[in-house]
Amino acid sequence: MGLASKIVGAVAKRLPAHGRDRAEEWLLPRRAFERLEVPASSALTIICDDGETRDLDIVDVLEQQGVKGVFAVSPDLIGRPGFLSYEQLRGLRAAGHEIAFHGTTHDPFTGFAGPAALQRAIDEGVARMVAEDLGTPSTLIYPFGRHNRWVRAAAAGRFGCAFTTWFGLNERHANRFAIRRVPFGAYVGKLAGTEAWYRGLIDRAAGGCCWPALMLHPAADGHTQAHNAMLGRLIEHARQRAVAVRTVCAHLPSSPAGHAGSPDRPSAATLPGARV
Ligand SMILES: [Zn+2]
Repeated sequence: MGLASKIVGAVAKRLPAHGRDRAEEWLLPRRAFERLEVPASSALTIICDDGETRDLDIVDVLEQQGVKGVFAVSPDLIGRPGFLSYEQLRGLRAAGHEIAFHGTTHDPFTGFAGPAALQRAIDEGVARMVAEDLGTPSTLIYPFGRHNRWVRAAAAGRFGCAFTTWFGLNERHANRFAIRRVPFGAYVGKLAGTEAWYRGLIDRAAGGCCWPALMLHPAADGHTQAHNAMLGRLIEHARQRAVAVRTVCAHLPSSPAGHAGSPDRPSAATLPGARV
């Protein structure tokens, strides 16, 4: 065991769930497939998790502003009471919104027995999305935001990038399979979460090489109608500051999935309460 791994192990024992994974991600060097140079032209991305019907409130805001968002769905939840149907999701996709993968069952990926079991589950869910004409998703949103070193390697064999619930703006360099987000509405926690604070983040992005991605749970406690109105004003502010509102696909057109021959990239063959 190398020194870095020993340090990670020592730190990890003292930390709760996400803390252990965060310490590992912070302490160990990024692998080649994880390195992401944030595009020089900043963008704001709006991501709704879970695919509940309240997402349609956000669709209204986006459409009024003439921009597109990302909707992360779990095939096991699609069509259940309170959740969008495949037909509704096909409509969103046809309108130019991006449909992202949020786990087949919404179970945390860190809870799978290993890469092979996780990839079997991913393949099953992705196949269902393809069969329902939702296309092959290139963006992964980790259920509960949970991931670790082996999960990121497994995800890299299937997706172009992945987002977590961990807070951050993604400035200059980021982990392509642990892209940070900024909660909006629900799950803001101890962050300020005021309109002035979000405007400040957009102002910071206006300086370039910055990619704030808002994390929305429109059906969760904490997300109100007032947030929908605020989102519209923030999109206007982004426009005034020349920060484009883009989907993940539009902002990262060349994902590593297009470079399957890279020796640094794990291939499929070699890889062994509140919804968030
Ligand atoms: Zn979720």
